[in-house]
Amino acid sequence: MSDTPRVPAPRGAPDRHGSCVLLKHGEIFLKGRNRHLFTERLHDNLRLALRGIGGSTWIKTAQNVTVLGGQVPQEALLERARRVIGFNSVEPAVRVPSDLDTITAAAVDALADTPHGATFAVRTRRRDKQFPLTSSQVDAHVGARVLARVPGLRVNLARPDVVLTVEIDRKETYLSRERLPGLTGLPVGSSGRALVLLSGGYDSPVAAHRAMRRGLACDFVHFNGAPYTNPSSVYKAYALARELNRYQPPGRLHVIALGKAQKQLAVAGAGRLQVVAQRRLMVRTASALAARTSAEALVTGDSLGQVASQTLANLAAVDEAAALPVLRPLIGWDKQEIIDEAVSIGTAGISVLPDEDCCSLLAPPRVSTRAGLPQLYSVEKRLDLDEVVETLLDAAQVLRPGTDAEEVPAAADGDCAASV
Ligand code: ATP
Ligand code: MG
Repeated sequence: MSDTPRVPAPRGAPDRHGSCVLLKHGEIFLKGRNRHLFTERLHDNLRLALRGIGGSTWIKTAQNVTVLGGQVPQEALLERARRVIGFNSVEPAVRVPSDLDTITAAAVDALADTPHGATFAVRTRRRDKQFPLTSSQVDAHVGARVLARVPGLRVNLARPDVVLTVEIDRKETYLSRERLPGLTGLPVGSSGRALVLLSGGYDSPVAAHRAMRRGLACDFVHFNGAPYTNPSSVYKAYALARELNRYQPPGRLHVIALGKAQKQLAVAGAGRLQVVAQRRLMVRTASALAARTSAEALVTGDSLGQVASQTLANLAAVDEAAALPVLRPLIGWDKQEIIDEAVSIGTAGISVLPDEDCCSLLAPPRVSTRAGLPQLYSVEKRLDLDEVVETLLDAAQVLRPGTDAEEVPAAADGDCAASV
């Protein structure tokens, strides 16, 4: 049914029958005895997403469906609800008492502005089996009245231009003619907390979004090359975290100036291992930070083989330095798939902006594709890693993008380019 072409319904129209939004639950309908916990989490997230909408709202649950309404335009409800992870579909609807004449009148109303010559079908589902007519009897009855009352419409049950769905509950019935895709997945927070290593590129924001869709509430950590680079990557990470926070109860962004530690690794003779040694330092530092933020996993945007630092051997060398599982939601994704998803979640426009990335600072002309652990250990043992990590965390800046406590990132130590 979802691939049937639809004529969009007018939105934000006056609330004659009680407009509302129907939200069909995603994967939580597979849950067993603790399903109510997932549903509560989903509703908490929905309530949070509705904050500041500018009017009162209400939320009601039926079986595997949440109904949302209030004293605000339907368009605004749709916009907020579509960002809440855990719904399969989001449908603008009208809500009427479950009485055949009222349902029929609402159906006529809902289809009244359909373009002349368009085809339609009525599809009824009874969640209340006590209703005196069967679903197909309602289809036939309502369809016949619509044909009689709306000139120029024709019935086509196989490939209609417009499908009017009628969902009959015990007291109320919902009519809708448009189904917008939801973000599916599990409610954010239902799988615990994670710390995302967020760079300014395309990949890590998409990885973060995918992690959220598996129920992880995400905080973010961004490493920049200060004092040897300008703060452009911090501004990007901040903007990305703010965009990502629109899909979850807002997480924090930790900004860590890695430049001096990167230089220490270079001085220790990392050479072709420099990039992997830096990545190991990032996950080591992130692991220590995770202990403070109660995160149980790290998330990165790695995709196998995408660049030299992402060979299997190098990913394994990075994992070895992490104290927590490193989740890589994009491991099997192509770059184009990642960019397409970045466009659809709204992060691509930020990722495309130029920045001075800490990874290119001190990067060797050729990155080793097989960084061996013995060689890495011999570089690392020239540093007091525990102290390095401690120093990095002590100087970390904590930001809250997209919240009332939002503050613009300070332009970190040194606006730019002390030479390395
Ligand atoms: P991205 O598009 O996310 O920048 P990338 O294709 O540029 O990824 P790499 O630069 O190899 O790939 O980085 C791999 C992963 O390591 C990133 O997806 C991110 O999770 C993490 N990472 C890299 N640089 C940083 C950074 N400066 N701060 C935080 N995390 C980083
Ligand atoms: Mg990158």
